Amino acid sequence: TMAAFPPPIKNPEIKYTKLFINNEFVDAKDGSTFPTENPATGEEICQVSEAKAADVDAAVAAARKAFQPGSEWRKMEPKKRGVLLNKLADLMERDYQYLASLESLDGGKVYTQTCGLDIRISIDGLRYFAGWADKDHGKTMPMENGYFAYTRHEPIGVCGAIIPWNVPLVMFCWKLGPCVSMGNVLVLKPAELTPLTALYMASLIKEAGFPPGVVNVIPGFGKTAGSPLSRHMDVDKIAFTGSTLVGRQIQKDSAETNLKRVTLELGGKSPNIVFADADMDYAVKMAHDSVFMNAGQICCAGTRTFVHEDIYDEFVKRSVERAKQGRIGEPSDLEVEHGPQITKLQKDKILKYLEGGVKQGCKIECGGGEVKGKGHFVQPTVLTNLTDDMTVSKEEIFGPVQQIYKFKDVSEVLKRANNTKYGLAAAVFTNDINKAMAISNGVEAGTVWVNCYFKMEPSYPFGGYKESGIGREQGEYVLHEYTEVKTVVMKIDPIKN
Ligand code: NAD
Repeated sequence: TMAAFPPPIKNPEIKYTKLFINNEFVDAKDGSTFPTENPATGEEICQVSEAKAADVDAAVAAARKAFQPGSEWRKMEPKKRGVLLNKLADLMERDYQYLASLESLDGGKVYTQTCGLDIRISIDGLRYFAGWADKDHGKTMPMENGYFAYTRHEPIGVCGAIIPWNVPLVMFCWKLGPCVSMGNVLVLKPAELTPLTALYMASLIKEAGFPPGVVNVIPGFGKTAGSPLSRHMDVDKIAFTGSTLVGRQIQKDSAETNLKRVTLELGGKSPNIVFADADMDYAVKMAHDSVFMNAGQICCAGTRTFVHEDIYDEFVKRSVERAKQGRIGEPSDLEVEHGPQITKLQKDKILKYLEGGVKQGCKIECGGGEVKGKGHFVQPTVLTNLTDDMTVSKEEIFGPVQQIYKFKDVSEVLKRANNTKYGLAAAVFTNDINKAMAISNGVEAGTVWVNCYFKMEPSYPFGGYKESGIGREQGEYVLHEYTEVKTVVMKIDPIKN
């Protein structure tokens, strides 16, 4: 499969490092910059302009101007917005080797995975939402008592987006696609740890022909750029992906300011349930991938693997063998499976979780430590001897740590799977349709995979139950998150002649 991708560009040239406002790359008003580093080495890649409140104001003003009634954007036919999104997807396709190389460098992401997943999901998503641009329409209501009523789906206006560092391009496109497809304008703040592909995308947005101000990209930190955006009185909606902690703050910011619409995609602690009748080799492989992909830094990772007691010991044995196989190292190396964690802070957090887990009685079957040397690498780790009330069972570790629990029957495992504040995803492996239905109907999660994991298409809505979020992204469902419904009621006088 690896030969299917063009090789990465080593040391890709960094072309854009400034804020993108009104289709121009500009310095921050106070001239501030901050470094972005390569997680595989810990070394600085370059300095990037740092947006603060004044720059957020400028970006929001540019977006608002682009959204004024009568502007080029507002007068544009919906299908033309689709043309622009398709053009952007074509440009991504043209530059995909460069984009994947840059994403891999800035995020420490394994290049082959970036090509096979991130880039594909991003481009497919833009094309999907290009198609929706002229297809989301209102309804006409039954005529009653001489009145005629219909609904219009109108854009909300200026949308803010605040995104995380683990899948930067995917998040960029997931926010951008439905937002502009429905005729809104966007101010997007990439994560401070991974600003580079977002800025390159900004250049493609200009090249594609989006009018000035429709899309603005302002790198910066959470407190000094994210917060001014989520508290802005002239921002009509905010779409956030990140931690549950910050998600709560975003919701509060809205409540304390202008009640801007809020959608949240937050953390998870997703159960992956393997029954004794499942194809063991396949289930071991999928359970492994569900946790270790992207060094465990995926919100919907299958971090709680529940395995039926009849196959438990054998499953653990094979999972440990599998975890020991993957090569760890430089993400651009085509043979490498495991890249680094995003920062030293994140690495240390994971090691601390493991230390705490051992103290509470869990067993490290393999891995369990850092990889000495440059970069922020953690060994792929498998934990057993776990109880549901341990800290590692409840909190999101966001690292390469598989936790394997033993269960007896359907009702027990369903109860335990749901015993979490999260509800982003779940999976079940079985060839028994009744078990598959019992789990997929009973589990409290926004996505349930049956005999697969991570299978995503732009038409599949994605989002969380419970504290994993509010609203849905992707699919037809996200269109409601980017439109206001206007009801128009007309009185019809009977014809008298
Ligand atoms: P984070 O919440 O710390 O940061 C996310 C973004 O929010 C960043 O751009 C950051 O600058 C910004 N931010 C931080 N504080 C802010 C504030 N007070 N006001 C406004 N913006 C602020 O999360 P992270 O560490 O970047 O990402 C990891 C988390 O994201 C994990 O919990 C993971 O599960 C979650 N995640 C969820 C999804 C999903 O779709 N549900 C996808 C990816 C990541």
